[in-house]
Amino acid sequence: MPQIKKILVANRGEIALRVMRSAKEMGIKTVAVYSEADREALHVRFADEAVFIGAPASSESYLRIDKIIDAARKTGAQAIHPGYGFLSENEDFSQAVDDAGMIFIGPSPKSIEVMGSKLAAKEAVAKFNVPLVPGTSEPIDDINKAKKIAKDIGYPILIKASAGGGGKGMRIVENENEFQEQMERAVSEATSAFGDGSVFIEKYVTKPRHIEFQIFGDKHGNVIHFFERECSIQRRHQKVVEEAPSSVLTPDIRKRMGEAAINVAKSCGYYGAGTVEFILDDSLNFYFLEMNTRLQVEHPVTEMITGIDLVKLQISVAQGEKLPFKQEDLKIHGHAVEVRVYAEDPSNNFLPDIGTLQTYKRPQGNGIRVDDGFEQGMSIPFYYDPMIAKLICHAETREMAIEKTIRAIQEYEITGLETTLGFCNFVMHHEAFRSGKFDTGFVGKYFKPEVLTATPDPAEEELAAALSAHILATPTSTHAATQHEIVPVSKWKKNRI
Ligand code: ADP
Repeated sequence: MPQIKKILVANRGEIALRVMRSAKEMGIKTVAVYSEADREALHVRFADEAVFIGAPASSESYLRIDKIIDAARKTGAQAIHPGYGFLSENEDFSQAVDDAGMIFIGPSPKSIEVMGSKLAAKEAVAKFNVPLVPGTSEPIDDINKAKKIAKDIGYPILIKASAGGGGKGMRIVENENEFQEQMERAVSEATSAFGDGSVFIEKYVTKPRHIEFQIFGDKHGNVIHFFERECSIQRRHQKVVEEAPSSVLTPDIRKRMGEAAINVAKSCGYYGAGTVEFILDDSLNFYFLEMNTRLQVEHPVTEMITGIDLVKLQISVAQGEKLPFKQEDLKIHGHAVEVRVYAEDPSNNFLPDIGTLQTYKRPQGNGIRVDDGFEQGMSIPFYYDPMIAKLICHAETREMAIEKTIRAIQEYEITGLETTLGFCNFVMHHEAFRSGKFDTGFVGKYFKPEVLTATPDPAEEELAAALSAHILATPTSTHAATQHEIVPVSKWKKNRI
């Protein structure tokens, strides 16, 4: 396999930058692609070369396989990294890159295809003894038959879209009376979101935790895992706070889940970075949910606890190198927490709040990593995912990582739009989160917009700042404790719990 000398990154925002940084450290040149909305974007400035690929709508730019392959040809890139989202889980893209004689930094088209369908994935992994949530293994077409299966499984059940993603086409059914209506809704949601209305039934696992394993395969048949990430703090079935390791896994369960994750990868001849998602019930039984055949948004927590650069490893594996370590070489070092900073309004059902970053000051210090794609004064384009940044904090213990996250959130200054920072601060302080006793129902159960009080009162802020300045100017030894109580309110809606 040739040494890769130039990579085109078929993505934007923080992940494009993150991939380019690792490539640069490996002495590899980088090519950015950008839409009209991203002319001034940081990934464009960072890359060695940049190619304009079209109008802001993703369907006109970041989802255009032809334009991206063309840009790679023109610039002489030998490999393409898809990042996450956009074309990263599209088997036609992986195939087109192959057909163009370039290296796709990701799995084979076949692996993407199998794992892209939740039903095909279940079928593949069942042969490898991976535990599955009780449910149907075929799409449902006969409603009466489906009702009978649901009765056998026992309510509540979940209707899911086979082509599903992003929590779409998913419906909880509490009892038989609701069945027909919820099924019709799931089919219509799946048809409009994915152009494929196939749905199936699963037992709804009550109080589930979402635990996923980072796996890695090379092109020589070796597969290992880099432990788990706990992603149970979700809104709309989507993650917002992640951590590694999980506070509930015992070494024995970790070992069993890790082995199951490796088997999932083996079931589809996987190579590259991938994530095997499981749900864990309150008796600590785990079930395979799905596999994401790409780098995950929350991959940095794994990097922090293992000290491994997953993007560099993706690049080496893509160019045919063997994994440089064995499972027994890997150890967990400390604890990492990631909070996602979205331009969203938590007090308005987490709806996107697009605007300009009037103030944008990142937190700093030991153990803090901020992966973002913006600078002060930039606007969050309305066309794409409204994530501004990922704040990742690493420390020796879980408690210390949480404390560091709280400090970093306090230090983060963002004005001009609403963000999820205040919500993440609420999570970090919450007893259920701190004690580790939580599940995917956390937001529904504990979060009410009222916990984020109104925007800080400027008069109150001024008073706090004045008091703080006064105390700092007064040379007595007792003031450290007093200062603690009057930390000036930050720029995000302050949580007073
Ligand atoms: P998507 O691909 O749409 O993101 P997933 O299958 O990954 O869908 O599930 C997303 C989330 O939905 C999970 O993290 C979990 O919180 C919840 N979920 C999925 N399946 C079940 C189930 N059988 N029981 C309970 N919760 C589930």
